[in-house]
Amino acid sequence: MTSFLDFNKDPANDIDNKPQQYHNFGGKGVRVQVYWAADIWRDVSLWNNSWALLKGADEILRKYTLALDMLPLQTEPAALAPAKDKASRKFDRSVGKQVARQKKAKGEVAKKQTEAAAKAIEEQGPAARGLLGFSGSVHVPMEGEAPIDGLTALRKSLGTIPDETRLVVVFAHIDGGPNGYTVLRQEWLPWVIADPKLMQDNPKTLLIHEMGHACRLNHQQSDAGSATAKNIMYPLDFKGLTHLWGWQVDTIYDSYWCNGRKPTNWWDRISNAKLPPDHPFLWEEPS
Ligand SMILES: [Zn+2]
Repeated sequence: MTSFLDFNKDPANDIDNKPQQYHNFGGKGVRVQVYWAADIWRDVSLWNNSWALLKGADEILRKYTLALDMLPLQTEPAALAPAKDKASRKFDRSVGKQVARQKKAKGEVAKKQTEAAAKAIEEQGPAARGLLGFSGSVHVPMEGEAPIDGLTALRKSLGTIPDETRLVVVFAHIDGGPNGYTVLRQEWLPWVIADPKLMQDNPKTLLIHEMGHACRLNHQQSDAGSATAKNIMYPLDFKGLTHLWGWQVDTIYDSYWCNGRKPTNWWDRISNAKLPPDHPFLWEEPS
């Protein structure tokens, strides 16, 4: 694992004024596999906001010499947004055409072929692009763990995950309190749910915050007020959280999603609960 150049929690320190506390990772990618629940990809403003969150994550990672490496499409998130929007519309049109053709088809064979084609578009097309059939919301209480049933229903809609070294990120509605949630259960590797609903002061750090949790980063600056809180791992989400300390960036780099090994103890609630509240990490890893 990368050794920290300087372990500190000084809110004034950032890569601009203390570059000696930061490694240069040369733009190494943090891999994510992104999915959108139906309620998100069918709504232009939610869809666009999900892209703003991806772009926000990419910008923060780039500030600290990393980058967001995302699939389904391995392109710059900023450049991708209009193309993806267009792709969604094209997809809807092509399904419409298939249905129209099916109505016109007279022979049984033609009808079956058309049905098969429509099914292929519906099943493989959207899934490959991360567009889920799941609609509705997942319940996450303000404090504590989310019930397993809702998580399982959402997760099942993803099908098989093509590459486990990509962090699974799902944009879906969350009801209950928070707008983001990192699932830390033995059933799955850590994964992230983010609700891209529009917020008053429009912060863009929700996704990178949850990604930090999936890389085992704990909350920081919990006692700070909104005037002094700068760290992205601050428990609340508002505009103005733009800092990561060098050791936090190192932790992201050392995660399974970037340059590190598969995590071991993410789901161990009993031993993890014994870690002090100001501990840097949500779980310990053998060094
Ligand atoms: Zn958090």
